[in-house]
Amino acid sequence: MSNLSYINDNDGAWQTYLAQIDRVAPYLEHLKEYIDTLKRPKRALIVDVPIVMDDGSIRHFEGYRVQHSLSRGPGKGGIRYHPDVDLNEVMALSAWMTIKTAALNLPFGGAKGGIRVDPRSLSLRELERLTRRYTSEISHIIGPQKDIPAPDVGTNPHVMGWIMDTYSSGQGHTVTGVVTGKPVHLGGSLGRIKATGRGVFITGQQVAQKIQLPLKDAKVAVQGFGNVGSEAAYLFVQAQAKIVAIQDHTGTIYNPEGMNVDALKLHLEQHQGVAGFTDAKAISNDEFWTVEMDIFIPAALEGQITAERAQNLTAKLVLEGANGPTYPQADDILTQRGVTVVPDVICNAGGVTVSYFEWVQDMASFFWSEEEINQRLDALMIKAIHDVWQTAEEKVCSLRTAAYILACERILRARKERGIFPG
Ligand code: NAD
Repeated sequence: MSNLSYINDNDGAWQTYLAQIDRVAPYLEHLKEYIDTLKRPKRALIVDVPIVMDDGSIRHFEGYRVQHSLSRGPGKGGIRYHPDVDLNEVMALSAWMTIKTAALNLPFGGAKGGIRVDPRSLSLRELERLTRRYTSEISHIIGPQKDIPAPDVGTNPHVMGWIMDTYSSGQGHTVTGVVTGKPVHLGGSLGRIKATGRGVFITGQQVAQKIQLPLKDAKVAVQGFGNVGSEAAYLFVQAQAKIVAIQDHTGTIYNPEGMNVDALKLHLEQHQGVAGFTDAKAISNDEFWTVEMDIFIPAALEGQITAERAQNLTAKLVLEGANGPTYPQADDILTQRGVTVVPDVICNAGGVTVSYFEWVQDMASFFWSEEEINQRLDALMIKAIHDVWQTAEEKVCSLRTAAYILACERILRARKERGIFPG
C-alpha cells in the first residue's frame, strides 16, 4: 500500500511495482532501513503545457517528469505520449527504470516522463509546439548530468531532435547528451534501433544454454512484431530456430514447420502487419496461447500473460521483450510449472544499454562503429544475465526476484554509502 498522499491506492502500475518491492524485501534485510527509499520517487514534476493549435485556439495538456532515483547517477528513462498517461503510471515506469539501470549496472538512476495526449490527434506542427513547450517546462531538471530522456510509446527520434534543440537553445550551445535515441546525424548511436531485440536474443541464447534447450529447430512464438519482436525473432532464425506463430494488432498466424522469413519481411513491407501472410495459416487470437512452442517472446504490451494463459502456455522459456507483460500471479504459475522467465528488467535492457553508449559517445564527441557497439552490448548483457542466474541459484528464487535482489542491493548500497543529508 502506498503511503504517499498524492497517490490513490487503486490498482495502478505503481501498486504493482510496490508489490514487487515487497517480494524482494525479505532478501534485503541488511539494508532494510533504506527500503522505503524505493517506495517513493525522489522528485515528481507536473507541468501545464499550453499550446496554440493550428486553428488559433489554445489547448492545455498535462505533462510529467518523475525522477524516481538519482542515487547511482543521472536519471534515465523515456518520454511517453499517450492519452492514458498519469502520475501513477509515470511513477511506476520511472521506478522500473531505476531497477533496470541498476540490474545492468549502468551508472544511471531511473526517470520517466510523459504527456497525457493522443499524438495522432495533433498535426506535425502542433506536436512540435507541444514537445518544445514541454521541454522548456522540464528543462530545469533535465540535462546530461541530471536526467536524460529518450523515446517511449508515442515518441521517436524526431521528437528527441526537437527536445535536444529546445534544451540547447536555452543553454546557448548544442547539448547532444541531453537525450538519447536521437537521429544518428544529431549525435545518435548506431545500433540503437535494433539493440532491444538483440538483447532479447542474447539473454535468451544464454539462458537456453543453461536450461539445455537447443536453439536448432526450437519453436519460437512472438507477440508483437515491431521493433523489438521482429529483430529478436530474426536473430533466433539466424541461430536455426523456427518462427511458428506471430500475433500482432492485425491478427495471428501459425505455421508449425516455421515461416519463410524472407517472404515474411516482404509481406511486412507491403502490409500493415502479419495478417494475410500466405506462408502460414490464420488462427484465432485465443489459439495463439496454446500452440506448441519452446520459446515465447511477448513483445507488444503490458499485462498479456494472465494466470489462465500461464496455465496453458507450452513454452519452456519466456523472454520478456515488452515491459510488464506477466501478471504477478501468472509469474508464480510459470515458476511452479518449471517455465523459465527472463524478466523485462534484464531481457529488454539492450535499448537502455545502447542509450548509455550514445550518452558516452556524445560526452566524448567520439563515435563508435556498429560492430563495436554490438560487441560491448553483448558483453554487458551476457555478464548481467550470468550474474542474475548465479544469484537465482544461490537464493533459490526466480530470475525476476534475482534481478530485483541485485538491482535493489546496488541502489540501496549507494543510498547507504552516500548517507542521509544532513546526517
Ligand atoms: P512497436 O510499436 O515497434 O511494435 C509493437 C508491436 O505490438 C506491433 O507489431 C503491434 O502490431 C503489436 N501490437 C500492438 N497491439 C497489439 C495487440 N493488442 N495484440 C498483439 N500485438 C499488438 O513497439 P516496440 O518498440 O517493438 O516495443 C514493444 C514493447 O517492448 C513495448 O512494451 C515497449 O515498451 C517494450 N520495449 C521497447 C524498447 C525499445 O527499445 N523499442 C525497449 C524496452 C522495452
